[in-house]
Amino acid sequence: MRGAGPFVEVADRVFHGRYPQWDVGVGLVVGSEAALVVDTRASEVQGREVFEDIGRMRLGVPVTRVVSTHVHFDHTFGNRAFETATVIAHERVAAMFVTDAERIKRRVRDDLADAPEYGYTVQDLQDLLDTEPRGPDVTVEERYTVDLGDRVVELAFAGRGHTDGDIRIAVPHDKVVFLGDLIEESAPPSLGGDSWPLDWAPTLDRHLAAVGPEVLVVPGHGRPVDAAFVRRQRDELAAVAAVIRDRYVGGIPLLQARQEPDGRLPYPLEGLANAFTRGYAQSAAEA
Ligand SMILES: [Zn+2]
Repeated sequence: MRGAGPFVEVADRVFHGRYPQWDVGVGLVVGSEAALVVDTRASEVQGREVFEDIGRMRLGVPVTRVVSTHVHFDHTFGNRAFETATVIAHERVAAMFVTDAERIKRRVRDDLADAPEYGYTVQDLQDLLDTEPRGPDVTVEERYTVDLGDRVVELAFAGRGHTDGDIRIAVPHDKVVFLGDLIEESAPPSLGGDSWPLDWAPTLDRHLAAVGPEVLVVPGHGRPVDAAFVRRQRDELAAVAAVIRDRYVGGIPLLQARQEPDGRLPYPLEGLANAFTRGYAQSAAEA
């Protein structure tokens, strides 16, 4: 079976495609009866491009499921293009979907004129605004199995991290797992205003323990990586959490905490403002 568009076979009938806008990755798992798509890009137009790329691969089976790794628009707005497929995601993706879609559309409307930064154009943003986002039809709480005929795909939640609804999508027999934005290869992990920096590293520990050491990990952005890469990024996220906790416990005011360099921090400080805000809020709530 040959890939089309950007799709490359990374394991037996498991494909990964990287698209330039937002450098987002799309997965495709093909079984004897059906195929499953992981994430669908940032608009209906972009989703249709994925649909057509997959169509050119002549799979011989229909795409019956679309799985969203998490709620963010760059992974979900293309769902609309997969009309006949069932969309599956964590239950908190369903709960947050409309609010999050409206939030991103507001933000995009505000900075339509900004210089494209992540490989997208003003037209890509217009396509995003023109999309009527489609959330999940079926939700996952802890675990969910999809039968594709001669193989199964296992979905599981293991705790909060990049968001409160990140799931892994594992193809156990072929030792491949999609982790969405819990792992990024082409940029530091995104610690946004809906992230859980204090929970993230332990969540990765649980995912790693479940999939074993010999696994190929497909990130939400960038090239597939191995378990050693995931452990390194896990350690970096643990270091971020440690600095946040130390400063909170030490009574350092949030504004100061967000601005003070620390040799333990593995990522540029300006990308960690949300992490400190979120970590402080969680620490206060748990105190
Ligand atoms: Zn994300």
